[in-house]
Amino acid sequence: MSKPIVAIVGRPNVGKSTFFNYLAGKRISIVEDTPGVTRDRIYTEVEWRNRKFTLIDTGGIEPYSEDKIMKQMKNQAEIAIETADVIIFMVDMKDGLTASDREVATMLRKSKKPIILAVNKVDKVGELPAEVYEFYNLGMDNLMPISSIHGLGVGDLLDEVFKYFPDEAEEEYDEEVIKVAVVGKPNAGKSSLINKILGEERVIVSDIPGTTRDAIDTYVENEEGKFVFIDTAGIRRKSKITENIERYSAIRSWTAIERADVCLIMIDAVEGVTEQDTKIAGYAHEQGKASIVVVNKWDLVEKTTGTLEEYRKTVLEKLGFMLYAPVVFISAKTGQRVDKIYNLVKYVANQAALRITTGVLNDLLNEAIAMVQPPSDKGRRLKIYYMTQASVKPPTFVLFVNNMELMHYSYERYLENQLRKSFGFEGTPIRFLIREKE
Ligand code: GDP
Ligand code: GDP
Repeated sequence: MSKPIVAIVGRPNVGKSTFFNYLAGKRISIVEDTPGVTRDRIYTEVEWRNRKFTLIDTGGIEPYSEDKIMKQMKNQAEIAIETADVIIFMVDMKDGLTASDREVATMLRKSKKPIILAVNKVDKVGELPAEVYEFYNLGMDNLMPISSIHGLGVGDLLDEVFKYFPDEAEEEYDEEVIKVAVVGKPNAGKSSLINKILGEERVIVSDIPGTTRDAIDTYVENEEGKFVFIDTAGIRRKSKITENIERYSAIRSWTAIERADVCLIMIDAVEGVTEQDTKIAGYAHEQGKASIVVVNKWDLVEKTTGTLEEYRKTVLEKLGFMLYAPVVFISAKTGQRVDKIYNLVKYVANQAALRITTGVLNDLLNEAIAMVQPPSDKGRRLKIYYMTQASVKPPTFVLFVNNMELMHYSYERYLENQLRKSFGFEGTPIRFLIREKE
């Protein structure tokens, strides 16, 4: 299962950021490297009792202006309903129950998502102050008094949240099943593609037991193999939401990527590769996932001779870190080339799982070294003694060298190219680990 997503919703000043920061401060890790998203401080990864989850502060998008509070809150609630597995609805004991609390509560209750009502600013331990009981009027069973400033009750609250997480063990599929994440910006055509490729199949839709959100993995078995399309329910359901959703929808993409064997990175051919696309592709690359760049809406592009090759070049220029990825041009609408996708997915999944024996690798290494000398610095030359493949998905190679500092990025790239020339590894990133050996 992907990391569960927990969203905090509540009026301004109830203490959402304080709560968020309290947990972020306790974090084991913040995903600092994900471009763009973390800088907004809208989400953080939290680890609690050995489970990781993603915490979203839906209030963190933009500053509030008084007259717009209700609209903003509705917006927040919609985002939470759309993206989260569990929602923490935060209210402020010091303010008491307000009209907008009631309104938001009604919205949230309708969503059927698990909701925990956190009554914040209950700063004293001991008997519950009478003011807390008022909040039972919201009709929510899970009422948890907390003090975000002092961290009181936060553990109990998280334990309650955890009750709604799916069991970790339940999600695994057989080794041979290829997990596919279809990711990209809203409107790139993800749902259209999925509907198209599932269209002719006898689809078995499996609702994974214990899942709290309405995420559905779609399992498909055909002559090409066994596939699971991750999170397609969330993708297929059309969201009618604002621009803000785009930033949150990226979070969904991250978690789908983390679970996937192969990522289909969907680009809208009319718009070309956007910054958001680069971020999504970058994440797939960092996570070591195999990827296919799918340029969709090809039917809308005016074509002359060479258009496709020109376009392919532009795409790969923008996604320079992903030159290994096949680029396909499809129309989810007309179905053009859509039937090729299963085969390609299977192909890159196999490429990512290739294992090369140490003997063969070292023949290649010796040849490569003979052709281009390893770098040297101040009279010392890099020696690479041997190379072995440590793991697959992504293929990872350990290089044993005399001195790690002498290894250059450019030489690594050279070796990577040699490996690709000989063995392909199409669609998958390759990693090197450098070890010193006397
Ligand atoms: P947000 O707008 O919901 O993100 O609220 P903030 O986290 O910015 O908090 C608003 C104010 O409430 C700040 O002055 C906080 O210091 C204060 N606050 C937050 N949590 C608590 C709490 O548990 N107890 C008390 N007494 N004050 C709190
Ligand atoms: P999603 O948000 O990524 O799931 O995108 P959708 O699948 O909902 O598609 C967004 C819009 O683009 C819809 O109006 C689709 O009909 C349209 N669309 C999707 N794929 C194609 C395509 O290949 N060609 C054309 N012309 N329109 C497409």
